[in-house]
Amino acid sequence: MKKENKPKNIIRIVDVTNRDGVQTSKLGLAKLQKTMMNMFLNEMGVYQSEFGFPVTNHETNYINANLELVRMGALKPIILEGWVRAIKDDVIKAAKMTNVKDLNLSISTSDQMIQGKFKGKYGRKDIVRLMVEAVKTAKKKGIRTIGVNAEDASRTDLDYLVEFALAAKHAGADRIRYCDTLGYDDPFSIYDRVATVAESCRLPMELHCHNDLGMVVACSVSGAKAAIDAGVDAYINTCVNGMGERAGNADLVSVILAVKYSSGFRKKYALDERIDLSCAWRVGKYASYAFGVPIPINQVGIGSNAFSHESGIHADGYLKDKKNYELYDYKVLGRGEPDIIETGANITVGEYSGIKGFRNVYDKLEVKFKNDEEATRILELVRYANVHTQKPLTREELVFIAKYPDIAKNIFTMTPK
Ligand SMILES: [Zn+2]
Repeated sequence: MKKENKPKNIIRIVDVTNRDGVQTSKLGLAKLQKTMMNMFLNEMGVYQSEFGFPVTNHETNYINANLELVRMGALKPIILEGWVRAIKDDVIKAAKMTNVKDLNLSISTSDQMIQGKFKGKYGRKDIVRLMVEAVKTAKKKGIRTIGVNAEDASRTDLDYLVEFALAAKHAGADRIRYCDTLGYDDPFSIYDRVATVAESCRLPMELHCHNDLGMVVACSVSGAKAAIDAGVDAYINTCVNGMGERAGNADLVSVILAVKYSSGFRKKYALDERIDLSCAWRVGKYASYAFGVPIPINQVGIGSNAFSHESGIHADGYLKDKKNYELYDYKVLGRGEPDIIETGANITVGEYSGIKGFRNVYDKLEVKFKNDEEATRILELVRYANVHTQKPLTREELVFIAKYPDIAKNIFTMTPK
């Protein structure tokens, strides 16, 4: 593509696995697993990870330890942003409890939720007032990027939503997150609504969609298209493997593939150039292992059947020219790397391991220790890691602990108040 033809505005990814993903009912991630997700997302070129809850006590050490990884350059260039309610007190607490520099402030904007949640305590005007107060407080506290989330935006009166977005902008917000909290939009309705908000407030738009009606990826990319067409940047919220509350959020890999390869987007809309799909398979596998949720065989891109052809006409056509039945090559996704934990005969390392087995495992990972003292210290941390995840540790987790022992220690430390 010639430089002058390059579209000005960009679609970037804000992954919310470590916030919406871990809100998935009956499931969650240990703090080490959340940390590994941030590392993987960074490797994949994701612009921002919504990495947790800065006002939740048990997240404090995890949050500060991950921000320390940013400071050390181990998590770079990804932005780690925290999620809080759009109220002044949450912002003050977040700034006090953590070193978080980027925040998304969330508040419900639909009449259904204003009435159904606040039960007459707040009306539309109060919602705007609380949000403006929160944004101004965040500004005062030196927060670098302030996103304002309109929860249930898809069921919010459109004029009010525009008024809300404009108030956020005037208070100093950098982005508006359009939340299709219940998956109520369709790809056409979200396009029109996001276009109206983007054209009126001229702020970059985030698209946060859910899959209750099975349209989550279509709605996400359609909302992004509306933002770009209106001349502002778009940030699509994703979760690895489409995790997230109820029927889930937009799957990270599906969104990237849709923007890169679909007829209406490819070469017409610019995806963040940092996106690297070559670790997609490994990231999907890791999330599946960490959450304990198998990848369906027909999962987009990374399911075991995503590149399998069996019926006569398809197999014959594929063998003649794979482009007959495939839009992209499996190699693009880094498929076929070894499993994330050792299979076959092997020694594992866990909460009751001794030094001999531990040495054997780390020798295989080609990690060397300076002396016995260092090895014993790492063994102790590995034991705690296993107490913490209750699963055999993956190669990447083991290497992480050896490489960043002080960070690992902080992540495992949790002292209830
Ligand atoms: Zn959500």
